Amino acid sequence: MGEFDLIKRYFTRATPSALLGIGDDAALLRVNPGNVLAVSTDMLVCGTHFLPDADPFLLGHKTLAVNLSDLAAMGAEPRWAVLAIALPEADEAWLAQFSAGFFALAQQHGVELVGGDTTRGPLNLCVTIFGDVPAQQALRRSGAQVGDDIWVSGRLGDAALALAHLQGRIVLPDEEIDSCAPALHQPQPRVALGLALRGIASSAIDISDGLLADLGHILDASQVGAEIDFAALPLSPSMQAHAAQPLVRQCILAGGDDYELCFTAPAARHEELADIAARLDVPLTRIGKVVAGRGCIVRDAAGNPLNVETGGYEHFR
Ligand code: ADP
Ligand code: MG
Repeated sequence: MGEFDLIKRYFTRATPSALLGIGDDAALLRVNPGNVLAVSTDMLVCGTHFLPDADPFLLGHKTLAVNLSDLAAMGAEPRWAVLAIALPEADEAWLAQFSAGFFALAQQHGVELVGGDTTRGPLNLCVTIFGDVPAQQALRRSGAQVGDDIWVSGRLGDAALALAHLQGRIVLPDEEIDSCAPALHQPQPRVALGLALRGIASSAIDISDGLLADLGHILDASQVGAEIDFAALPLSPSMQAHAAQPLVRQCILAGGDDYELCFTAPAARHEELADIAARLDVPLTRIGKVVAGRGCIVRDAAGNPLNVETGGYEHFR
């Protein structure tokens, strides 16, 4: 099968909201009047972000999910995506599964694939995503104010714990793997939450490199510090049971791949946030406070600072 048949069969779907989709030299897109485009790109590299035998359906899902998560963190409404893909060979069974996973999630979020690039090479998947947001309502990293509450969605550390199990760094019983593995393989980007946070959150980021690393980006951009209450962090029951283990604590605070939102909001918005959590059926948990100064202190239940490695995953380090 040639490149163009491959594109046609596996990546060409209707794109009714684009002026022009796949098939020309560029797509033509129109944003809602008064809005701006939020643009983000995220690449998944075989061997770095996933293993060669990764399930292609779940990989298709995750390739788009990590990009949707970035738009969620900006409070943008996802509209379009382009997909650059390098494949060692045109494996049709693999392509069928990959594109099914990709389009299943795309459809859930009303995203249209309007273009891309297809080449032969070591397996590499790169999506660029385009979203729509009123300029003044985009959620930036730089708006946190001293006194704001710090919140996270969902629960932390499950994906990192599942990865630690896959890599043999910890051995978990089956029921615990079943509880944490979906977070690693099929993360659910918090798009609806990001939209609901417009006008409420003072800053936001998605947690892809671990809570402390990503919260650290908010603190740097906002030039403030934070105090986090370790006992308040939202954990699955199995995480809770092992939370005193250094490796598990590392997964919670500095693991990657959570794709939850971390955001700040004035304390006065507490009730609105509780309503949003109930309406969207997304757990929202207050985990600490923005304080004057710099850096982040994590305290245990007794109020003593925990000594934790704050760095998330960094390439080239
Ligand atoms: P060009 O040579 O002009 O760059 P290509 O031959 O690479 O165009 O691609 C032909 C069309 O197919 C373009 O509209 C491009 O956006 C689209 N396309 C290529 N690869 C993909 C892909 N993996 N997914 C979606 N669209 C793709
Ligand atoms: Mg091209």
